[in-house]
Amino acid sequence: MADTIKYVLDETHLPKHWYNLVADLPVPPPPVLHPGTLQPVGPDDLAPLFPMSLIMQEVSTEREIEIPEPVRAIYRQWRPSPLYRARRLEKALDTPAKIYYKYEGVSPAGSHKPNSAVPQAFFNKEAGVKRIVTETGAGQWGSSLALAGSFFGLEIEIFMVRVSYNQKPYRRALMETYGARCTASPSNETVCGRAILAERPDHPGSLGIAISEAVETVVQRDDTKYALGSVLNHVLLHQTVIGQEAMLQLEMAGDYPDVVVGCTGGGSNFAGIAFPFIGSGLRGGPKPRIVAVEPAACPSLTKGRYAYDFGDTAHLTPLTKMHTLGSTFTPPGFHAGGLRYHGMAPLVSHCARLGLLEPTSVPQLACFEAGVLFGRTEGILPAPEANHAVRGAIKEALRCKEEGKSETILFNLCGHGHFDMQAYMDYFAGNLTDVTYDESELAMALAGLPSVGA
Ligand SMILES: *Cc1c(COP(=O)(O)O)cnc(C)c1O
Repeated sequence: MADTIKYVLDETHLPKHWYNLVADLPVPPPPVLHPGTLQPVGPDDLAPLFPMSLIMQEVSTEREIEIPEPVRAIYRQWRPSPLYRARRLEKALDTPAKIYYKYEGVSPAGSHKPNSAVPQAFFNKEAGVKRIVTETGAGQWGSSLALAGSFFGLEIEIFMVRVSYNQKPYRRALMETYGARCTASPSNETVCGRAILAERPDHPGSLGIAISEAVETVVQRDDTKYALGSVLNHVLLHQTVIGQEAMLQLEMAGDYPDVVVGCTGGGSNFAGIAFPFIGSGLRGGPKPRIVAVEPAACPSLTKGRYAYDFGDTAHLTPLTKMHTLGSTFTPPGFHAGGLRYHGMAPLVSHCARLGLLEPTSVPQLACFEAGVLFGRTEGILPAPEANHAVRGAIKEALRCKEEGKSETILFNLCGHGHFDMQAYMDYFAGNLTDVTYDESELAMALAGLPSVGA
């Protein structure tokens, strides 16, 4: 028997629709509120930031939303992405469990992010938008939107969290190669950036600050819109191609997962692999356990409060109900930059409240240990973010060994780590530690949550 088994779908199996979990939820998610009036926002309130087509996806309750053909044409370059059975990893762990992973690192940008960047660029182009401004943490979203912008002839401007801007010059180079402009955040280009730098000139930045800078920049020009690479309903929606394909591939394998594992930063790749399975369970199908793995240093699902909060630090965004560490919380500078966000997608948070998923957190070193074992057995070097999912899957496989169960585990390998080799070098040099967040800063950030009546 081959060491690695690869399940490949042909192009005819490329999904024709995105799957909207909202249609199948027993309880609808809480409304998004206007920060001034505290009343539910309507589509028009969001119009300065997004084209109406994306806003309608954001508030949609339809189960299936058609993927436009020009988007499918680009998806075809790397989709359907492969599903592998990790036979060598199973052997190394000596587990009776079967481990499958869906590999999203085959996209040109190296992660799942183009699944949403491409449709977002497409719908903006269709609406006559000329320029999109966004933020990026580790640079994965920025490079994905830069790629999509170059395909559709859009100007792309990116605020990159300063600590990552300095740690990851190659991601920045990739964005610039695709034709985007990239600025370290906090920057001197915005009112909120200047205010933060005045207080702390060496501020490492955060996604919350970069979002504020991007939103502030967007509202200054009519031909410009904003884009977000995670958190929002329409971003999670676009990622559901992952889980839909994985379902078909597991059918080829004659299997169905007992456990589905994903890592959570803002929640989009996790939703991508998990929502189609959660939805199928809600419609009467089998109900696998759904495990969300987040970093112990930025634990919004396991340690955050479920409350209305802003998406950004300067409080320019609407209020959404989500698991949050508080919008003024600055996560410590660990190496999975894509997971350094104070909040969790409202839809993922809502699912956690409904008991549809199990959140768990893991420290940095355990993740790198898992990633190195994965690299040595399966050959693919995961992104530091993806290592959280690898760690989660390994933990499940070891549990199966202890319990003598041959369960089927599916996880999403959301990206490769070829731009993150400094992190691996630091790990091997013994320079990485299990960084922890500042408890008093967290308490302060939570105390500062906006007060919204029931
Ligand atoms: C951005 C990113 C993440 C975190 O974002 P989610 O929306 O939670 O998926 C995780 N992994 C990789 C590889 C990323 O690029």
